[in-house]
Amino acid sequence: MEVAFRSAAEAKNRRDELVRLIRYHSDLYYNGDAPVISDYEYDMMFEELKTIERTFPELDSPDSPTHRVGGAASEKFEKVRHAVPLGSLTDVFDEDSLLAFVTRVTDQLLEAGYPREQIKFTVEPKIDGLSVALTYEGGRLTLGATRGDGQVGENVTENVLQIPSIPRALPEKLDLVVRGEVYMPRENFEKMNGIKEAAGEKLWANPRNAAAGSLRRLHSAGDALRALDIFVFNYQTGDLWEDGHAPTTHSETIDKIGKLGFPNIGIAALTGDGDEIIRAVRSIGEERDGLPYDIDGAVVKVDSLEMRRTLGEGTSTPKWAVAFKFPPEQKKTKLVDVEIQVGRTGVLTPTAILEPVRLAGTTVSRATLHNIDIIRSRDVRIGDTVIVQKAGDIIPEIIGSVPSERTGSERLFSFPERCPSCGEKLVRDDLDEEDGEDAEGGAVRCINPLCPAQRERRIVHFASRDAMNVEGMGPAVVKLLIDEGYVGDVADIYALRAEQIASLPRMGDKSAQNLIDAIERSKEAGPARLLYAFGIRHTGESASEAVIAEFGGITPLFDKTAEDIMRVRDMGEVTSSKIVEFFSLPETRELVDRLRSYGVVTDLSEEEIARREAARNAVGALSGSTFVLTGTLSSMTRDEASAKIEERGGKVTGSVSKKTSYVVAGESPGSKLTKAEALGVTVLNETEFLALLGE
Ligand code: NAD
Repeated sequence: MEVAFRSAAEAKNRRDELVRLIRYHSDLYYNGDAPVISDYEYDMMFEELKTIERTFPELDSPDSPTHRVGGAASEKFEKVRHAVPLGSLTDVFDEDSLLAFVTRVTDQLLEAGYPREQIKFTVEPKIDGLSVALTYEGGRLTLGATRGDGQVGENVTENVLQIPSIPRALPEKLDLVVRGEVYMPRENFEKMNGIKEAAGEKLWANPRNAAAGSLRRLHSAGDALRALDIFVFNYQTGDLWEDGHAPTTHSETIDKIGKLGFPNIGIAALTGDGDEIIRAVRSIGEERDGLPYDIDGAVVKVDSLEMRRTLGEGTSTPKWAVAFKFPPEQKKTKLVDVEIQVGRTGVLTPTAILEPVRLAGTTVSRATLHNIDIIRSRDVRIGDTVIVQKAGDIIPEIIGSVPSERTGSERLFSFPERCPSCGEKLVRDDLDEEDGEDAEGGAVRCINPLCPAQRERRIVHFASRDAMNVEGMGPAVVKLLIDEGYVGDVADIYALRAEQIASLPRMGDKSAQNLIDAIERSKEAGPARLLYAFGIRHTGESASEAVIAEFGGITPLFDKTAEDIMRVRDMGEVTSSKIVEFFSLPETRELVDRLRSYGVVTDLSEEEIARREAARNAVGALSGSTFVLTGTLSSMTRDEASAKIEERGGKVTGSVSKKTSYVVAGESPGSKLTKAEALGVTVLNETEFLALLGE
């Protein structure tokens, strides 16, 4: 990778930016098991940072992410120091770089006096899961640990013991440590996500996150653990043979690992010839699709254990191995149809219905087409062969069509004149991002406030995690409730009875009760979430929080003018007028009255208002308060959050107890959240936390 900077200062700025981005995304990936960018994008940032550090050695430092492995072990688990460190691998992205590695290593070994015919490399698939070390004592599994930062991992023995293919006891009484990759086979991944979808839970983005999320969870569900599998790919230390035989090659150890009953990685080639290595890597790439599990590359390693020792280890990666990473997957498939979805603000979004195709870990059968202008500019027609790719995050996208494969039967797509849900005439207007739907170009909108599709989307939004957080009330459940006539608007949620819910398909008494409990809990979500949950156009979470912080609740908003609202920090004219418009509707007053009558909290309590006031005014406003952080915050790292709390006199601790004042729960929170809920400790989401900080 080439990087060109006009000055060292410019390089330093970019270095700082990359370090920040890499740390942020690593935290989401390793600690939250919920990445928001593709691995390829991450890898490219990492490569750029490495190149800058090579070009400007003064910008390199020991704490750079390029010298680190993975993420820190979580506080949730007991920490364990690895007997042999669990390193990462240096990546290469093209065949020339792979050949350069093979040549460099071969030359070094020749120079060290090894005969050419003894210099051999193994080629193995690179499984996309998470690394674990398994320790056996006297042939019995005594410890299963995640990689963590390579030196210290998490003790996940309890979870590891539930993975069916990991032997609890070996046929020989060995003291041994092996390393492998825990993964979730594609079929199990689809099955587990199906179960999550039915329960209205957030889906796993891909099998890698599913594996990491299941294994790194306290008291993980047995089903999720039983859906995991392992490939053991390395002998770390100890005895592989009862007679004390000392192995000399990696291939020999892998063979014995298989005989001991471990699913082993399978060595695709053992050769010293660069061309053969390339052929083996290519053939792994070609087979990638047909495998029952995800791989993200191939690993090329020196076979001789003694030669490995001669070559040595770098700060975080061995010098005797390299990972060849496959490029991001793109697939060709057919665009079968375009379906129109009506969002909660009435915007119509075209969604591509595709012939199902496996792509980067999941089966893709739908993709976003954003809006009509994008469909035109990418020249996408119904019946076309199209190319799909996962965008930065996990939503698949059509990047273009293949006009050369047209047969003449393809059709141009055009928007209907009338709303597919309510039949009302559509209008075209300018769209902006705050609508929560895709921007770029014009939007077609249904402006009928009674449109059933909009109503359904509004109820889904109201119940969603960032709004009232009614766990278990996902789109499928909302649809059933509407179809049965149990719910017509958001207030009806609070009149639901357990028998009604239990009568829905695939709902038992237990899930009905769970949903009733979640509905009950949501009454306490607070006015800021409630305001956001109303789904007023342009009014996002932070705008809602700011408005409530200023006025103290929903009730005062009925008397406010747009000018009043515009005085609130960062509130623009459009948002203010939308809020005023919403609160001037007689239906809104009626809705709020009904919600209140069901016990939904619509206004901040006087104590809360006083507490916030104090927080705003006082230095050391958080003194006496203890905080526990869990999950990932989008606006700051955990360290920054801790610093902000401490600056204000608060204390941050690692575990939740009755004495904890607040648990701050970011994205993908861990068991601390469950514990906080069990103990009745106040849980703050990110917006509430920022408000408490007075930010
Ligand atoms: P890595 O996944 O690129 O490679 C090292 C790992 O490969 C080892 O730890 C091992 O567990 C695994 N592996 C699988 N099969 C193997 C085999 N046959 N032999 C040896 N090892 C094998 O490196 P990493 O340090 O685990 O993670 C970094 C990668 O994680 C990045 O390259 C990126 O792709 C991904 N990542 C993505 C994001 C994101 O936001 N998308 C963020 C951080 C990291």
